[in-house]
This record gives sequence, structure tokens and C-alpha cells, in this order.
Amino acid sequence: MKMNVDLLRETEEEVTNLLSELIRFDTTNPPGNETKAAKYLTETLGQDGFKCEVFESAPERGSVVTRLKGTGEKPNLLLLSHLDVVGANAEEWSVNPFGGVIKDGFVWGRGALDMKGMTAIEVMALKLLERNGVKLRGDVVLAATADEEMGGLGGADFLLRNHKEKVFAPYVLNEGGGSAIPTLSKNVFTVNTAEKGLLWFRVKAKGVPGHGSMPEAADNAIMRMNKVVEKLGNYREKIVLVPTTKQFLRELAAEDESVRGPFMRMLADPESSDSVLDGLEKTATTIVDEVRPRLRMTITPTMINGGFKENVIPSECEAVFDCRVMPGQTTEEAQSLVRKLLYDVGLDKLSFENIQIQEASESPVETPLYSVIASVLRDFEPGCGVAPLLMAGGTDSRFFRRFGSVCYGFHPMRSETRYGLKPTRREHGIDERISVENLVFGVSVLYETIRRFMT
Ligand SMILES: [Zn+2]
Repeated sequence: MKMNVDLLRETEEEVTNLLSELIRFDTTNPPGNETKAAKYLTETLGQDGFKCEVFESAPERGSVVTRLKGTGEKPNLLLLSHLDVVGANAEEWSVNPFGGVIKDGFVWGRGALDMKGMTAIEVMALKLLERNGVKLRGDVVLAATADEEMGGLGGADFLLRNHKEKVFAPYVLNEGGGSAIPTLSKNVFTVNTAEKGLLWFRVKAKGVPGHGSMPEAADNAIMRMNKVVEKLGNYREKIVLVPTTKQFLRELAAEDESVRGPFMRMLADPESSDSVLDGLEKTATTIVDEVRPRLRMTITPTMINGGFKENVIPSECEAVFDCRVMPGQTTEEAQSLVRKLLYDVGLDKLSFENIQIQEASESPVETPLYSVIASVLRDFEPGCGVAPLLMAGGTDSRFFRRFGSVCYGFHPMRSETRYGLKPTRREHGIDERISVENLVFGVSVLYETIRRFMT
């Protein structure tokens, strides 16, 4: 039951305007101010008879929730998205980032990709299910939340802690995957089934201060921190191919001859991955960039600060590290690894402070929802590949995986390289935009996925 041409044209106009309106609410987080966008969704969904509730974790920090009832024969499905965006410097943009500009076949503005575009697609799909009178066998819930860009405690986490009965569902569709990776002969669509965890921590190195002219008399904290940075920054963890990554490599090997041999070697001998990818670097850069961050835990120094005067040896120097852990690995394990690595530097002269912690999470690939997604994509684009993806960053999906939900990042998008856009997308970037064509594609694929999964 694909949509006919008239319906598609109507949908195109409606979803384009929906996104344009959403972009015009400046929900830069901090401070967020998502309530006004949540109220707008309440209003537009209300026009189709939906009753929405807005829950605020703090004044103006609203998340909106609504539900299309099914018969209860099937598990419920949540369409999740976030309403907040990261900041945009208007001077760097060629259009007003909060103008909701529609031109050259694109909707421009902060959030077009991350992720008001998907909010618009989800709202549109829900409206169409209602308008077409689709008989659902389970509830389809929609939640557009606050605070994702600052960790989600005031949005998805707040809802699960305080209004779980309103939002929890065994299946969740959210951001993080869905876009096609163009390979030699066809598109491979990704489904985000897992994400790395995050541990941001600060290390302080202590020493004995002294005069810059007499280094032997002091114990230089900067020199100590230098050793810390060397040890952690150069550390290469053993490679771990989690189930998601194994399947990702298998699917790409099946679809793209140029990487088939190399990826099969990685699967047979994960430890060979670095040299295999180095060898591929010249011919398949895009795919190599996709694979590299998904193989191991990483520890990256990102900030360093010490000293205050040219001729004073400081007693303290501090640095911040961004550590990303693999699914199956806890941030606690990462913390003890860090201490072990720094044993030689002298743990008594170092202190540690955690800045933010998010655990890694992974959903299985063998589920009815994944099969439906794959079959819908193949109907829309015969012969395309579908591959699960481990995200190097995090999304609100982790909160729901904690309660056992199967969560997939799936914002269906065709590659926009033919418009001259780089395959690296522009989430958080300058001139963020999404093509109208991809908005319609997104609505069509999502609508059909929900219809097939829930009836
Ligand atoms: Zn996002």
C-alpha cells in the first residue's frame, strides 16, 4: 500500500512546512526552551484529533507525548525524537539558521538533520496513519523530548523516571541511523542498533613548585601530565567486533566488491583490522572512516591547562579526556584500566574526577522490527543493502535500552551526494539542511514500516 501521487504531493507540502515551522523555534540547548516547540506540535497534532501532553522537567523545558491506540494484540512502538538543537553562529551561515528557509529543494536550518527533520517525519507518519484509518494492533506512541544535546536528563530520562507509563514501549525508533552509505553499485542503508558509552574525566597531576631557572629543585606537574597524556593518548585497546559491527562488515562485504576481501580478513582475524584498514585507506576512504571508530574503546585528550607565569614551575596541571567505551564494556572497567595504565606515572601524584558518564548499549539485530525495516527498504529501493551500525556517539536510545526496549536509530535518508553535498552529513554543522525529497522519502518509508510492523 504505497501512497499515490496526489497524496505524496500533499504530504510533501505538509511535512516541509512542519519542519520549517519547527526550525523557527530557537531551541538551542542550553537553555533549550523546548516548550514552545512542544506546544506547536500539540496544536498541529490536535488538528488531526490527537490529544497531546506536555511534561516539563523545568520551566520551558517541555517534552510532548501522544498516542495512537491499537488493539493491544502487538507490542507498542515509540517514535522518539528530540526538540532541542545545538547552537548556530548566524554569521557563518548563508541563511538565517532559525529562519526555516525553504529553497533549492531543501529545508535549511539548525535541526534540519539533528533532528527536527525526523520529528516532522514522525509526526507526519502518525497523522497519515490516523487519516488513512490504519487498524493498528498495538499503540504507536510519539515523544518529542527536551535536553538530548546536553545528555537527556531533562528529557527522555526525566520522562522514563516520572512518566514511564506514558512513553515506555518495547520497540523504539529514534535518530542515529537510516542514512544510506553509497557503495560501488548500490546504497547500503544503516540501522543504528548500538552505541558506544562515554566517560569524560579530568586528571590532575600534582608536583612541587619552583623557579623556572632551577628545574632540578622542583617536581614539575607539567612534565608529569605530559606522561599521562602520552600514556592515555597513545593507548590502543584490543579490537572488539561486537555483533552489530560483525554484521555491518558482513553486509558491506556482500554489497561492495572493493571491500569484500579486506572485510572478510577482518572478520576472520579482528587483530588484523588496523593494517587492513590502512591498506584500504586510498581506495575506500569513506567506508574506512565509517569503520575505524567502531572497533575499540578510545581515550582522547581534549583539554589541557597548567601554569600561570613564565618563570614559575607549577604545582598542578590538569587535562580532560574523552573516553568512548564499547558495548559490553562498562565505564567502571574503563576507569580501572586508566588507573592501571598510569601506575608507572605515580598514582599518588594524580587525582581523578568524572565529568560525565553514559553506559554503552546494544539492541539485537534479529527482531521482527529489523526484518520489517529491511523488507520495506528493499521495496523502496530494490537490491539495496541494509546494515546495522554501532554509533560512536550517544542518543536517547540508551535510556530506553536500560529498560529492555529494542531501539533502532532509523531516519531513512538517501545519500545527497548527487546534490554536491559531502557524504559526511551536516549535523551540528554550518548550513545544515535536508532535501524535500528526503523528507518525503522518510515519511513514506517510516509510514510503511509502522503499517507493516503494527498491523
Ligand atoms: Zn540528535
